[in-house]
Amino acid sequence: MTDYAKSMEAAREAVHYACAVCRDLQGRLGEMQSRFKDDKSPVTVADFASQAMVAYILTARLGRVRLVAEEDAAALRAQIERGDSSMAEAVAEAVRPWWDDVTVEDVLDAIDVGNAEPASSSGLHGFWTLDPIDGTKGFLRGGQYAVSLAWIEHGAPLIGVLGCPNLSLDYSRPFDDLDPRGVLYLAASGEGVVEAPGDDPAAHANKVVRLEPAEGEPVRLCESVESGHTSHDLSERVLERLGEPAEPARLDSQAKYAVVARGQADLYLRLPQPPKPGKGEYIERIWDHAAGALVAREAGCAVTDVFGRELDFGHGKGLEKNRGVVVAPVRLHGMAIGALEELGSFRHPE
Ligand code: AMP
Ligand code: MG
Repeated sequence: MTDYAKSMEAAREAVHYACAVCRDLQGRLGEMQSRFKDDKSPVTVADFASQAMVAYILTARLGRVRLVAEEDAAALRAQIERGDSSMAEAVAEAVRPWWDDVTVEDVLDAIDVGNAEPASSSGLHGFWTLDPIDGTKGFLRGGQYAVSLAWIEHGAPLIGVLGCPNLSLDYSRPFDDLDPRGVLYLAASGEGVVEAPGDDPAAHANKVVRLEPAEGEPVRLCESVESGHTSHDLSERVLERLGEPAEPARLDSQAKYAVVARGQADLYLRLPQPPKPGKGEYIERIWDHAAGALVAREAGCAVTDVFGRELDFGHGKGLEKNRGVVVAPVRLHGMAIGALEELGSFRHPE
């Protein structure tokens, strides 16, 4: 087995069990603790438990790993120092069904495996990036979310595993009608992407291929639920230029990339809002896009920023060289980039 095949197998197993942990916790949201980070975004027992699970399995299968993940255990350790270990204990409790004899110290250490820095873009060695729960707000709302793990080398994802625990393999099922089986996407650069039922780690996977939508059909947009994460107004204006608009589908997380890849929507737009006074522009985080972008690209979609530039994962934890995201089959993607240019809402930095 090649190193890449071994990595893919480990990543699949890691995301599968992280999804199982999250599914279990989302089923009893009422009893789950969460807190707010310094940027006011929520983080829950499930975010920590998912990250611990992924780090534990990757390490067990591959040895020492370089993992750049969204969360770290500093806040949990600080709570323990103040005499409150309830959240850390809840994290250990959450992973225990899949991790024998785990202790609080074990989960804190596993979470902190994710504290690595990205390898430099010119370096020979790659790194993993993980969003243990992408779309935490969707998770808390009882909606869609994703577990997203990717292997990056030279600024590009080569392996992407995207777990969507509430998405259905039945493409006709509405996104708010949650399917507890979920779907798992496995993408490898140059080799395509497959989808498998999310509840069986050894299930057969089917290839996902995106065809161009028929000309003249309404363009089905998907976008964030959160209006702070994308401009809904600007998306509407782009759609008007592409023909007869259909009602947009709004769902949380990188599941949007998968939904375009499999043909349930035609276009995913993530259009930056103007920064709030006194604040810099929001820089997209690598773990919010790496696995999803590879899933869409390997299905045959174009994935770029609002100027039509490739997403560049070679500049630390942020997509510093990009603005926003546009995902669609190639012809439609070109039309969307053209519409954005005509609208002139974004000024090219160069
Ligand atoms: P979504 O589910 O598409 O709304 O995206 C969720 C992700 O948006 C979270 O993981 C955050 O990292 C990210 N995010 C937070 N603030 C912003 C922002 N101002 N613009 C774009 N994305 C953001
Ligand atoms: Mg995220």
